This record gives sequence, structure tokens and C-alpha cells, in this order.
Amino acid sequence: MSTFSLDPGPDQIAVRDWLHGFAADVVRPAAAEWDEREETPWPIIQEAAKLGIYSLDFYAQQYFDPSGVGIPIAMEELFWGDAGIGLAIVGTTLAAVAVLANGTDEQIGTWAPQMFGTPDDVKVAAFCSSEPDAGSDVSALRTRAVYEEATDEWVLNGTKTWATNGGIAAVHVVVATVDPALGARGQASFVVPPGTPGLSQGQKFKKHGIRASHTAEVVLDSVRLPGHCLLGGKEKLDERLARAREGVRKSGRNAAMATFEASRPAVGAQAIGIARAAYEVALDYAKTRVQFGRPIIDNQGVAFQLADMKTRIDAARLLVWRASWMAATNQPFTSAEGSMSKLYAGETAKWVTAQAMQILGGNGFTREYPVERMHRDSAIYSIFEGTSEIQRLVIARAVSGLPIR
Ligand SMILES: Cc1cc2nc3c(=O)[nH]c(=O)nc-3n(C[C@H](O)[C@H](O)[C@H](O)COP(=O)(O)OP(=O)(O)OC[C@H]3O[C@@H](n4cnc5c(N)ncnc54)[C@H](O)[C@@H]3O)c2cc1C
Repeated sequence: MSTFSLDPGPDQIAVRDWLHGFAADVVRPAAAEWDEREETPWPIIQEAAKLGIYSLDFYAQQYFDPSGVGIPIAMEELFWGDAGIGLAIVGTTLAAVAVLANGTDEQIGTWAPQMFGTPDDVKVAAFCSSEPDAGSDVSALRTRAVYEEATDEWVLNGTKTWATNGGIAAVHVVVATVDPALGARGQASFVVPPGTPGLSQGQKFKKHGIRASHTAEVVLDSVRLPGHCLLGGKEKLDERLARAREGVRKSGRNAAMATFEASRPAVGAQAIGIARAAYEVALDYAKTRVQFGRPIIDNQGVAFQLADMKTRIDAARLLVWRASWMAATNQPFTSAEGSMSKLYAGETAKWVTAQAMQILGGNGFTREYPVERMHRDSAIYSIFEGTSEIQRLVIARAVSGLPIR
């Protein structure tokens, strides 16, 4: 029986302190500038790479931390620094997790290092699932992958949207449908190697928050891929499609869902980093801002707001750590605990950052103080990696056993 501990070990504390130093010294001071520029902060990614924070080794080490909390601790600290820069640094891991979850050992060994590049030549990767007509409903993907037996090649056509690092990535992982009649069960994931003809960036989106993270459409126009770019290999795909055609359900999870499952608590931890940052700014401000002859925190109305903020942040972290520990120790997610953690952490970040703006009064509404940026950044956490409504749907189905719609 594995035990559950809330006491980070010396290795985890060392990682936390190391990342906190980077977040405080490098990320936070640069946050406002890159938010205004709305560009990928390449110099900061490069600095993270030089320190070993942006590297396959670092993420693999945290990913395989037996307690499960390595990744959430790292995410919380980095996003405490800034969410836009944080996502620019960790966006690659979504594609890396897709390869880890669905690829063969050989594919992992080939593609994962290319996603990060080297400290002297950093690269990023993109995971492309969402489409204009397939957001929450991933079974509706239209991007088509057709196999050509004579050349052992796959030909991909379609348009992806909302791809983090889309078009600027060295390696793109693309989810496409092989047999549209099978819905989500007819889909597969493909690696598109650097420089592949036919892949181009479409529109780059101008966003409300996380503006240092690049988000764009990705157009796939007769993209030809060698057979070995199909994650998991053709034999495994053929077996899976045959089972689906016979109506045999070995596992209800498709390629895209498997990726989302693995990454949800980590996304929750990012939201906690934003919430904690805003809470700390608000706490300091409430202690020093004097109105009616006393610090505003002397008013119960303000102090209770801060008490609730801290309570919700800690509750969210407990849910995230529990889900991360469950994933690492292969516990069944009988109540969709991963979705629960992302739902609660995302909503907490939106709520806490809104309270922080209120506590800062007029200053909270300006770009002179960071909480308005934190509030804008937090808004994505009820949208991407499954909206809050979709998390509730997943939880409701898990706890009721009913096909709630
Ligand atoms: C900044 C950003 C970065 C992103 N990065 C990536 C990425 O790297 N890769 C990628 O593949 N995707 C990415 N996404 C896409 C993201 O995952 C989708 O936006 C999200 O899944 C929602 O899809 P949608 O925008 O099409 O909204 P829709 O699915 O159209 O939803 C619209 C509204 O309807 C609600 N809704 C839909 N269905 C139901 C239902 N059954 N019950 C109740 N309510 C429902 C939703 O909750 C939402 O409120 C990103 C998005 C953004 C904005």
C-alpha cells in the first residue's frame, strides 16, 4: 500500500527553491515587458535552457518523481513568476507528454530531445488537437490522415487552431482522424518533423492574457509523413481500429484524451502559481495601505477576503497534489480526481485574482501593479485543457456512472 505524504522531500524542496529563485529573479521582472510585446520570450527560454530548467532531462526527472508532486511543484513556482512566460517555457511539455503517452521507446528517444533543442539552439514543440469545429468535442476532428501503402507514407490535410507554439515549433504533434466513422476512436497522433513541407502557421491570435505565449492556427496542406511518424506504430493502430469496428471497448480513452488526462493536474498547478502570486501582492498591500487611519487589513471585511483566498489556494493545491500522486501511483481516477483538481484550481485562480484587484483598489486596475495581468492570465484556466463545464461533465459522469450530456 503506497502512502500519501504532504511533506516534500529534500529533493523536491531543492527543486522548489531553485525554480523560485529563477521565477523571482528572471521571470517576474520581465513579465510586464513580454505581456506588452505579445511575443515568445526567446531570451528567457534560452536562459532557462542554460540553467537546465528548460530541458528534457529536467521534465523527465520531475515527470517520473515517484510521489507525483515534482511537476506540480515546478509548475507552481514558474507560474508564480509569470503565467505568459511560464507557458512559453512549458508549452513544449504538452507535445512531449503526447509522445510519452502514445509513442514507442524509439519514437520517444528520437523526438523528445528535438522538441527542446540545445541551450545554444533552443526549440519549442506544439500539440495540435483543437480545430475550428472541434474544441470541447474532440470526436469531431476533421483533419484527415490517409495511409499510402505503396510509399509507407501518411498524408495529412486540415486546419488546427489554438495551438500553443503552433507554427513556431520545431516538432508538431498532430491529432488526426484515420477513420472518421469511428469518431474519437478513429483518431491517431502523428509527429510532424522540423521543416516538413505543407505545414504552415495561419493566424496568430492576439489574446486577453498569457500574451507571452504564442497561440496560432496550423495549416496542414498535403503534409507527407514517413510511416514511422505515426505514434505507437501502424500495427497497434490497426488493432485498435479493428477493435473499434467490432464494437469492442478495451479502453474508453483516445489519443487526445490520454494526453489531456496526464496533464490536467499540472495545469491546475499553474493556476495555483498565479493565485498565490496575486494573494501575496494583495496581502502585502493590505498591510501597508492606510485608509481611515489604519491599514485596510484591520477591517474584517478585507482580512476575511484574504483568509478565504489563502484557504481556497491551499484546498486547490491539495486536490492537485492528490491527483498527481494518484497518477504517479496508478490509482484509478474513480471520481475524475484529475478533472476535479483542474476545475477547482482554475476557478480558484480566477476568483483569487479578482479579489486581489479589489483589495488593491484603483491600483489593482492599472498596469503599474501586476494583479490585473494575473487576473487576465487566470482567465484561460477555465477554458484550455478542457473548459470548466467539460471538467464538471467528466466528474458528473464518473461519480454517477451515467452518460450525462
Ligand atoms: C490560449 C489558448 C491556448 C490553447 N492551447 C491549445 C493547444 O496547445 N493545443 C490544442 O489542441 N488546443 C489548445 N487550446 C484549445 C482549447 O483547449 C479549447 O479552446 C477548449 O478546449 C475549448 O474549445 P472551444 O474554444 O472550441 O470552445 P467550445 O467547445 O466551442 O465551447 C464553448 C462554450 O460551450 C461550453 N460547452 C461546450 N460543450 C458543452 C457541454 N457538453 N456541456 C456544457 N457546456 C459545454 C464550453 O464549456 C464553453 O463555455 C488552446 C486555447 C487557448 C484559448
